[in-house]
Amino acid sequence: MAFDAPEDLDEFRTSVRDWLEENCPPSMRTPLKDDEIVWGGTREKFKNPESKLWLERMGEQGWTAPEWPAKYGGGGLNKAQARILQQELRKIRARPALFSFGLWMFGPALLEFGNEEQKKRYIPDIVKGKTRWCQGYSEPGAGSDLAGLQTKCEDKGDHWLINGQKVWTSYADQADWIFCLVRTDKTVKHEGISFLVFDMETEGVEARPIKLISGSSPFCETFFTDVKVPKDQLVGELNAGWTIAKRLLQFERSSISAGGFGGTGGSGILPPQEYAKQHVGVDESGRVADGDLRARITEHLMYSKAFGLTVQRSTEEAKAGQEVGHTASIMKYAAAKMNQDKCELLVEALGTDGLGWDGDGFADDAKKATRGWLRSKGNSIEGGTSEINLNVVAKRVLGLREHQ
Ligand SMILES: Cc1cc2nc3c(=O)[nH]c(=O)nc-3n(C[C@H](O)[C@H](O)[C@H](O)COP(=O)(O)OP(=O)(O)OC[C@H]3O[C@@H](n4cnc5c(N)ncnc54)[C@H](O)[C@@H]3O)c2cc1C
Repeated sequence: MAFDAPEDLDEFRTSVRDWLEENCPPSMRTPLKDDEIVWGGTREKFKNPESKLWLERMGEQGWTAPEWPAKYGGGGLNKAQARILQQELRKIRARPALFSFGLWMFGPALLEFGNEEQKKRYIPDIVKGKTRWCQGYSEPGAGSDLAGLQTKCEDKGDHWLINGQKVWTSYADQADWIFCLVRTDKTVKHEGISFLVFDMETEGVEARPIKLISGSSPFCETFFTDVKVPKDQLVGELNAGWTIAKRLLQFERSSISAGGFGGTGGSGILPPQEYAKQHVGVDESGRVADGDLRARITEHLMYSKAFGLTVQRSTEEAKAGQEVGHTASIMKYAAAKMNQDKCELLVEALGTDGLGWDGDGFADDAKKATRGWLRSKGNSIEGGTSEINLNVVAKRVLGLREHQ
């Protein structure tokens, strides 16, 4: 049952504080460890039992999705209350209870485009982290040109029949359900796409993990062979999936910009200036000795401060009711660049210690920085490449004409 939030904001703050004091377990107030991230779903292992408790308690309150309607299991908080909740969570350095494509992408899109029955069916389990979702968008011939997708969906009267292949489906082998774009009319491009959801256990669905040069990866190739999907699992109208797809991409780009990135380094990583001081040395006034590196680190710190404030402002604007629009592309582009610059600086500041991938000769934080640097290469690809986001900015934000 959702929290019975007092109307008075001071009273609300006190009740939130009391609740957190009583319910946030001690280890959930320490920096998040990479191997204790909770993605939820039926395959979740919960290395730390307090993560499970924390998810259950936050999910029960609806506070993993504080502003979603209480009737679907969300927190039902208004914007002012949600802000207070965030502030109080931050104050005790509480870990996020749940990482989830359902929370970041599918849920917001379903609240906008799903029917009542679908919202009641899927949203409560997203809030509680009971169902883990994956994103079936990209195909071997349809990444940037997503609307070129070919996965075929036929109307067989009492069910949909799906045949085709997706690629780069992150965590498809761990997910319970997929939100998926399919082609329901091949005579038209954008107007022939539909948005379907289905259980990954359905007969004919096969997720094969892709091994990359850096070792194992979260990516899968996902194959669909005569997969039967119940009719009521179509979201929105037939052939009108492209609108939902685009909206969901805006949610994806916003959540990435707000910090949902791979490659930030993880816990235990110091800021670049600290590594530079340790590994490169300091001058007589205690500054990083290498002037060029010092200037680039300073520039990065200035940009990231400005970017952080801009993200904060746009989050506040979104909470104040302004739409998540094409500015999501500006933020995603900038966030990708910022994160990649940071990872470059970290590895450079570490010197030869920044070359370690494995083995005892390298400290754990140095290995994490190296792995983070490699992972950050994908930041300018995932959720739409930087080139594609710049095209969106040129066309939809600046109103420039298409290149002839
Ligand atoms: C970490 C990560 C996680 C991902 N997770 C998922 C997932 O869970 N589900 C999913 O469906 N997909 C996922 N993807 C796939 C991702 O969305 C695609 O890789 C991305 O959309 C680019 O498509 P592509 O790889 O086919 O590249 P392509 O479209 O082949 O592009 C190749 C290059 O050409 C450029 N290019 C293409 N068209 C244009 C143009 N018109 N103008 C200028 N430049 C252009 C691109 O910017 C890029 O640099 C993930 C990718 C990464 C890296």
